[in-house]
Formats: sequence, structure tokens, C-alpha cells
Amino acid sequence: MAMDEERATPSPPTIEIAAGSGVCFGVRRALEIAEKALAEGQPVYCLGPLIHNPQEMARLAKKGFHVIGSLDDAADGGTLLIRSHGLQPDVVAEARQRGLRIIDATCPLVHRAQTLAAELQRAGYRVVVAGDQAHPEVRAIQGHAPAAVVVSDLEAVRRLELSGRVALVSQTTFSPQEFRRMAAELVMRDLQEVRVINTICAATVDRQRAAAELAGRVDVMFVIGGRNSANTNRLAELCAARGVTTHHVEQADEVLPEHLAGRRRVGIVAGASTPQWIIEKVSERIKSLLK
Ligand code: SF4
Repeated sequence: MAMDEERATPSPPTIEIAAGSGVCFGVRRALEIAEKALAEGQPVYCLGPLIHNPQEMARLAKKGFHVIGSLDDAADGGTLLIRSHGLQPDVVAEARQRGLRIIDATCPLVHRAQTLAAELQRAGYRVVVAGDQAHPEVRAIQGHAPAAVVVSDLEAVRRLELSGRVALVSQTTFSPQEFRRMAAELVMRDLQEVRVINTICAATVDRQRAAAELAGRVDVMFVIGGRNSANTNRLAELCAARGVTTHHVEQADEVLPEHLAGRRRVGIVAGASTPQWIIEKVSERIKSLLK
């Protein structure tokens, strides 16, 4: 009888957070640079959100951080912070002309992609950037290599008319699988030379791999991050593709009791722009609902 009772006892619920979840080093570095600038007591301007996380942006706004849509919105003599996505050189030059102080928080990995694109263009290559044309990071890379063409998928590469020497680089958060397909397509073309330089961020790839692996062995996944965050949306897609019920939440109160009904093994992953305090709040909420 004791044995039967033991068998009937359900195992305790588990909550596991995917490796590499949360703020990546590039975003953390940008946040630290912003906090340091704000500590001087002067307003800091940024073209677009510093981090794709509304809650974190609201916290910074209280300290004097202003997200602006154009340089016209910055007060004379103010400070312009370049976020981790980087910025086009002509925009930086205009900001300097207007007397704005520039603080550069471009992620070093994004800076590498920008520098490579510029050098390859100068060396005579037709630069092809694998990425999303509308993404600020890609616009900044293109700003460093204005003749570069941006392609979002293999089909777009197939449609390109190319000759001579071609160099392929990528947005740092681009899909590695699609990048490899694009590279193979270019190599098969009758071109004088093809250079393929993988500028995809390893932190992004590792986080995606960990999320997919975790999604394969839990009952439900929670993906935490801004709905305007491309890398968080990609994590939610990857988890759902593993066939597990996936909820994309920005904050703790979006986790509902019905999300956890009958679930014992819970997985969590957070995008590159999700601060630790939000991950902790969501984990606490899940823990309290699992009791
Ligand atoms: S995801 Fe990678 S490339 Fe982008 S900011 Fe973070 S560390 Fe830099």
C-alpha cells in the first residue's frame, strides 16, 4: 500500500530557465553607459528605444532618458546616446553639427559588422547584408556601406543581379540557417569571388538553441520580452514550432492561472532586452500559481 501511495504522489512542479536568458552583454553595456550619462543629471536623448522593453524604458524615462524620433526633438547642447543597434554615420555627423554631445553605446559586435561592410565596400566588393531592411541595426550597417544591398531571405538573394566580387555579411540576430542557405546560393553563382563573413551574434544563436531544447521537454513555455523585440518574437516562434504551448508575456501579471492548469514542467526563456528583475517577477508569479 505504501508503494501505491508513493506512485500516486505527483512529482513536484519544475520551473527551468533556458541558458543565456535575458539581457545580452551588448544591451547590458548600453544600459550601463546610459545610467552613467544620466547620473550627470542632464537629459539624455536616444533615437529610438535603448532596449525593446517598455517597462525598462519607463524606468529610464523617470531618470531623464528621452526617446526621440528625430534630432529636431533634442535640446541644443544635449547628449545623444547611440544605442546598441548603432547609427548611420551621416546622422551622427548631423548631431555633432547641431552641437550634441555623442555617447556611443553601439554593441561591439554590431560595430564589427559595420566596419566590415565599410571595408569590403572600399575594397571593391558588392556588399550583401542578410537582414531586415526596416531594422535600425541594418539601416546603420547600410549607412556605413551605402552601396550595400539588403536581402531578407534566400529568394531575395536568388533575384539579385550580381557580378564581380561579392561579400555577404549579416544582421547580428539573423537566422544562421537562412544565412548558410544564402551563402551557398552565392557560392554556386558564376562570380569572380565570394566572401562570406558570419557576423551573427553567438549569444543570440546560443539562446535560441537553449530555448528550442528546453521547449522540447516541458509542458508549457513562457517567453518573456517586449512585443516589439524581434529576437523575443523569434524565440516565441521557435518554441511554438517545437509543438509546446507557448505564451509570450511582457510582465508578470500577464501569466494567468489557466496558463498553468494541469502543467508540471514549466520552461522560461527571455529575450536579449529583458532585464533580470522582470524575469524574476515572472518566475515568482509562475511559482505562486503552481502551488
Ligand atoms: S544580441 Fe548580440 S549583437 Fe545584439 S546587442 Fe546583444 S550582444 Fe550585441
